[in-house]
Amino acid sequence: MKKIFLTLAAAMLTIAPAWCQQNAQQPLIASNDAIHQAASTGEWLPDAPAKTAKKAKNIIIIIGDGMGTAQVYASVVAQKGASNFLRFPFSGFSRTFSSNKYTTDSGAGGTAIVCGRKTDNYHIGVLPDGTPIPSFLTMLRDQGLATGFVVTSSVLDATPASTYAHVPYRKMYDTISLHMSQCGFDVMIGGGVHNFRPENRHDGLNPIDTLLKRGYEITYSLQDMMNAKSKKLVTLFCENYYGPVAPGRDPILYEGAKKALDILSKDPDGFALMIEGSQIDWACHNNDAPYMQAELADFEKMLGFVLDYAEKDGNTLVVVTADHETGGLVLLGGDIENGTNKCKYITDGHSGVMVPVFAFGPGAERFSGIQNNIEILPKVFNAMGRKCYLNDPESPAK
Ligand SMILES: [Zn+2]
Repeated sequence: MKKIFLTLAAAMLTIAPAWCQQNAQQPLIASNDAIHQAASTGEWLPDAPAKTAKKAKNIIIIIGDGMGTAQVYASVVAQKGASNFLRFPFSGFSRTFSSNKYTTDSGAGGTAIVCGRKTDNYHIGVLPDGTPIPSFLTMLRDQGLATGFVVTSSVLDATPASTYAHVPYRKMYDTISLHMSQCGFDVMIGGGVHNFRPENRHDGLNPIDTLLKRGYEITYSLQDMMNAKSKKLVTLFCENYYGPVAPGRDPILYEGAKKALDILSKDPDGFALMIEGSQIDWACHNNDAPYMQAELADFEKMLGFVLDYAEKDGNTLVVVTADHETGGLVLLGGDIENGTNKCKYITDGHSGVMVPVFAFGPGAERFSGIQNNIEILPKVFNAMGRKCYLNDPESPAK
C-alpha cells in the first residue's frame, strides 16, 4: 500500500511540473511580438489561445478613414456621453507606417488592415514588388462565407479596392472596376458608376455587363437598394463620390450597413463585412471641423446599429480602426456639457500617429495593446479559428 502511494506521489510530481509548464507556454492571448514575427517571417502562428475559447463566426471590420484618437474623442464629446465608441470592452492602438513611408496613404493603410501585409504608398492589394495578395474578404469568400463591403466613397476608392483589387497605383480605376466585377463578393455598396460606363473607359469594356452576367442586382439609389431582393447586390449611388452628410446626403452608411447585414447574415456559414466611413478623412483634409463632426455622427449611427446586431447575435467579432490619422487634429478645448470641441488642424495631409483599435465580440481581447496594423488580420483569423493564407507563398491571390 505504502509502495503504491509512493509511486502515485512520484507520478504526480512528474506530471505537475509538465502541466504547469505547458500552461505557462500557452498563454491565453498570443503576444503581439509573436504575431508580428509570424506575420513578417512567413511562419503562420498556431492558434495559441485556449481551445475552449469561443470562436467568432462572423467578422465586421470597420474603418474610419483618417480617424485618429482626437477624432474619436471629438465624437465622444459631441455625443455627450452616449457615444457608441464607449461600448467597446477592448481597445488598443495600431502603428500605421507603410513599407516605404513613415506616413501611410489609404492604399497601403487599407491593404495592411484587410490583407495583413505592409506595402508601398499608393499600392492596392499588392506587395511592394507587385505580387498580388488576398484580403480577408477573398480568403473568407473561398471558405464559404458571405462577403461584402459598404463605403461612403466610391467603390473604387483605395480602401474598398484593397479588399478585391491588385494594382500598383490606386487611381487605375478602369482596372480596379474590372477586378471588382470579377471578385464575387455578395454585396458591394458605395458611389462611383463613372468608370463602369464603357464611354468613360480607355478599354471600352463594360464591367456592368460582367456583374449582370454574374447574377447581381444593380441599383443606383438608396430607395432601390433598400428594396432590392437579390442575394447578390451592387449599389452605385452616384457618378463618382457622394457629397458630405451635412447638406443632406442620404443615410447610405447606416442603410448600407443594414442592407448588407440583412443579406449576408442569411448565410449559415457566416459572413465577413468591411464598412468604411470614408469622408472623415476628406473633412480633415479640408480642415473642416463641422464637416468632420457630421461624418463622425454618421459613423456613430452606423456603429450603434452594428454593435446592437453583434450584441444580439453573440457570434460576431467587430473590429473598428483607422488606416491613418488625417489633419493632425488637436482638441484645444470645448464644452463637455454642450458637446462642442475647439478643433485645430496642423496639416491638410495625413499624420503618422498611432490610431485606435476597438474590438467587440468573441476574440475581442486580442486587440488590446499596441499592435502593428498588419497584426490585426492574423488576430481576426485566429479569433475565427479559420485558415489564413497570409504567409503561404503557394496561395493564389484571387
Ligand atoms: Zn486621406
